[in-house]
Amino acid sequence: MFEKIALIGIGLIGASVSHGIRRAHLAKSIAVSTRREATLAAAKRLGLGDNYAIDPADAVRGADLVLISAPVMAYEAIMHQISSSLEAGAILSDVGSVKRHAHNMLGKNLPDNVHLVPGHPIAGTEQSGPSAGFAELFDNRWCVLTPHENVDRGAVDKMTAFWRALGSNVELMDADHHDRVLAITSHLPHLIAYNIVGTVADLETDTQSEVVKFSASGFRDFTRIAASDPVMWRDVFLTNRVAVLEMMDRFLADLTKLQAAVKSGDGVALEAMFKRTRDIRRSIIDAGQETAEADFGRPHGKDM
Ligand code: NAP
Repeated sequence: MFEKIALIGIGLIGASVSHGIRRAHLAKSIAVSTRREATLAAAKRLGLGDNYAIDPADAVRGADLVLISAPVMAYEAIMHQISSSLEAGAILSDVGSVKRHAHNMLGKNLPDNVHLVPGHPIAGTEQSGPSAGFAELFDNRWCVLTPHENVDRGAVDKMTAFWRALGSNVELMDADHHDRVLAITSHLPHLIAYNIVGTVADLETDTQSEVVKFSASGFRDFTRIAASDPVMWRDVFLTNRVAVLEMMDRFLADLTKLQAAVKSGDGVALEAMFKRTRDIRRSIIDAGQETAEADFGRPHGKDM
């Protein structure tokens, strides 16, 4: 599908893409670039590329696809480093979790002859780094592409085919719409998990040990999500602030309603609410996006 793919950033997502490219034979060669020598050495040991560079400009030369898989607040600096080395006709894409920010940062110094097709695979684990990657990560998950409507259709079709070959279903979406949808489906759940685990961390020691002992009753699932990469999630909340704040306001209003129902012993209100939420769970399972186990979107059966 591509002559040379440059992977800028080779952590969980970049490494998984590399495995997926190899699995489906999507490129003649893969160039890997990452910020630190130690990560580059790990990528080499894992055989994630055919050539390696610390300077991302070296990796993107001659590449017909450049895929950025770094935290979203690193985009501006990366773009500064690579923009003058991008090939005419190349596709520039990313996997970042906030798409308006991706458009703003990657679109800034974009040469006219480079096609920008930002993307976001809705797949992940709480692990980081190149050794965490695996080819099956994207299988039967969604990947959302958010190209501007004026972008070359051939480039969009090619990225659609690329993600399908990695195992994903693909949906095209406006960047702002993506950020609003993900604020409620991903960003707010992470914030709630960080918060509840933080609350436990502040409990007195004896209560804390009971929480650990009985964690299988629900708390354990929150700890999985709250173990996600701190830098990645810091960047998500700083760059999708407006949508996250809107969803937090709604969440807090609903939490206050629940608090009032518990306070006043309003069983009818509680039961009605829990019935509605159970229906949503059923619709997710019906849509093939989950089995009956709780895992916060992490692949089942993987020890992470
Ligand atoms: P990761 O495992 O922590 O890997 C991050 C990669 O980015 C590493 O190669 C790292 O390089 C590089 N990097 C970190 N900070 C950088 C900086 N300031 N400048 C340049 N490079 C930098 O992260 P990940 O989970 O693969 O996430 C990468 C992207 O995927 C993020 O934008 C995230 O929003 C998106 N995403 C993540 C998930 C998920 O569940 N994890 C799911 C979907 C999308 P060094 O190690 O050399 O420093």
